Amino acid sequence: MDDVVSRASALRVSAQEAASCERCALAEGRTQVVFGSGDPDADLFLVGEAPGFHEDRSGAPLVGQAGELLDRLLASIGLARADVYLANVLKCRPLRSRDPLPQEIASCAPHLLRQIELVRPRVVASLGNVATKLLSGRELGITRVHGRARELVCGGERLVLYPLYHPAAALYTPAMLRELEQDFARIPTLLGAEAPDAAAAPPRAPAAAEPVEAELVQLGLF
Ligand code: SF4
Repeated sequence: MDDVVSRASALRVSAQEAASCERCALAEGRTQVVFGSGDPDADLFLVGEAPGFHEDRSGAPLVGQAGELLDRLLASIGLARADVYLANVLKCRPLRSRDPLPQEIASCAPHLLRQIELVRPRVVASLGNVATKLLSGRELGITRVHGRARELVCGGERLVLYPLYHPAAALYTPAMLRELEQDFARIPTLLGAEAPDAAAAPPRAPAAAEPVEAELVQLGLF
């Protein structure tokens, strides 16, 4: 319990530090830093891409239509937003919601990795290409890797990395939405599993579990 309290406290300190972050040029155009929200001791940590218009205004990650879809997906596995932790790779909105630049991702990644380290979830679900490529250390696109669990080492802890389509991408693509729903349905199994290769269910075979700590170190993120 003390450990939970101290990690939650450290997370609040990280949020306060990030609120004045000026490590990249996105600081100039933001309304506010969108750090993250949810249970600081969550078993499931979902990582989106970057704040959009509504997130920048509200200060909360993954709101709007995509957020409503995410809420429905969470409800389908018996979870609510308050049960999980939500954060984006970038904490500040790129103007006109353009794609994040590599320099921005590299600058902001330490915030995300510190969040994961402090929340210490069992499963990190990376939503879409940007979060998945960062956390896997690989350039494989989300179409190839969604629904395939693998091992992620973060802060010395072994976690399960579980790539999913981003709800914003699935909103208007019924086939993608069906796959996202199917992938989401495996999350309860992953949350109860000790290793990715024990958790992924047929028909999709699990990818080999490979620690990615070395790749993260190479990126200079720790
Ligand atoms: S996007 Fe991240 S690194 Fe850039 S200013 Fe915002 S918090 Fe700092």
